[in-house]
Amino acid sequence: MGMLLSIQKSYELLANYGCFAREICDKCGSVLGAVRFTRYGESEVYCSPECRGDAHRTASLRPGRPRKHKTDRERRAVKTRQEQVYRGAS
Ligand SMILES: [Zn+2]
Repeated sequence: MGMLLSIQKSYELLANYGCFAREICDKCGSVLGAVRFTRYGESEVYCSPECRGDAHRTASLRPGRPRKHKTDRERRAVKTRQEQVYRGAS
């Protein structure tokens, strides 16, 4: 459940938005309407996937190279670092 609004604030929202809103986005504070975004098993509610923290996931679904690593060389460098860490730990 999102941050609870005071009764007075709720009535203001009822007047302004035409609904008795009691929840706002846990991230940006926007009043939640009929559409709200939650994460399974968590109580927070958000106004959008972006606020829920899914912006990166959405971006990574796009075709093509992930934006995280700009070039193959950079990606290889990261991979090498990870392997070094692995060797160091064993
Ligand atoms: Zn939000």
